[in-house]
Amino acid sequence: MITTASYATISANAPLAPHTIVRRNPNAHEVLVEVIYCGVCHSDIHQVRNEWGGSHYPMVPGHEIVGKVVKTGEEVIKWRIGDIVGIGYFIDSCHQCEACAAGEEQYCEEGMNTTFNGYERDGRTPTYGGYSTRITVSEDYILRIPTSLPLERVAPLLCAGITVYSPLHRFGIKSNSNIAVVGLGGLGHVGVKIAVAMGAKVTVISHSGNKREDALALGATDFIASGEADAFTTNARRFDFILNTISARHNYNDYLNMLRRDGTMVLVGIPEPMLLSASSLVLQRLNLAGSLIGGIRETQEMLDFCAEHRVVADVEVIPIDRINEAYERILKSDVHYRFVIDMKSLKELETT
Ligand code: NAP
Ligand code: ZN
Ligand code: ZN
Repeated sequence: MITTASYATISANAPLAPHTIVRRNPNAHEVLVEVIYCGVCHSDIHQVRNEWGGSHYPMVPGHEIVGKVVKTGEEVIKWRIGDIVGIGYFIDSCHQCEACAAGEEQYCEEGMNTTFNGYERDGRTPTYGGYSTRITVSEDYILRIPTSLPLERVAPLLCAGITVYSPLHRFGIKSNSNIAVVGLGGLGHVGVKIAVAMGAKVTVISHSGNKREDALALGATDFIASGEADAFTTNARRFDFILNTISARHNYNDYLNMLRRDGTMVLVGIPEPMLLSASSLVLQRLNLAGSLIGGIRETQEMLDFCAEHRVVADVEVIPIDRINEAYERILKSDVHYRFVIDMKSLKELETT
């Protein structure tokens, strides 16, 4: 058993604070990873605050993990001590159902085992995430990190990156696709970069005008401030595809009206409940879809794509004791564009 420093919350209203957890020595097919960086995703906040229901405490969030293999189980052949690896939103699944067999483990029929706020396959052992100095994981649920990229800027790709890559890829975004990315936060800004790398013409839709210059610098060719009068009417029926990353409750009909006939809006943001009228879809034969992270194979494909196109997140690196302040800033949409925790700051706590 390995005593491990972490940051945890004990209830939906409590701040995150230092907390000690125990990691096991890796079994035959597991590795022990020393966490180097962990990105801060809005899904951490939704769950810390129990906005999706069913949260269990103490909760150690974190699912955008980049780290170094420091120990391997005796039958592990894929990984060696010193390898730089990534861990995303899930650490296991049933391995047998149709979804798992198709490499879409996130849709596992028995339910994927999430990296935090979940349970291991035994259904009893709670999972604790990446706001910690080390984590023990199965050899089959980790990713190879391209070391040509700065690691702190790669960490957010493990959730934000795959979550936007998967639908852009699945819906065939290519050269000259005319698309919009709604919400310029962690997911949105990586979405713009990946879509631009795929050759698309990208417009950013943001709720204020504050992020206009940033959006254009990220590669967008146009910008719409949705809070401005007439933003929705003057941009009606403009796009073939919309990637919607908004984290707060909003009116989906407004954005659907920006799609051309047969267009598609994919939701990746998970606010509840939603506002939707059937006629928004029916009158222009539109498609409304959702998408959940991506499987291990596709996540590796995304990392390799990002290495090839030099796509990384724009990050603000923080020590772990600034995490509560970071949450407040994320909630005010004041993040440019992903907070990433430098886990050295937690390691220091462990050794003092
Ligand atoms: P984030 O960094 O906080 O970005 C969300 C963005 O939504 C904000 O930057 C803001 O963009 C926009 N927004 C916030 N409040 C708004 C409001 N009231 N009206 C309009 N726009 C608003 O969050 P994130 O980490 O990118 O995550 C976004 C969402 O995706 C969250 O709900 C998260 O749980 C979910 N998520 C889903 C998956 C999946 O697999 N489907 C994976 C990861 C995360 P502007 O300032 O530009 O308007
Ligand atoms: Zn996430
Ligand atoms: Zn399965």
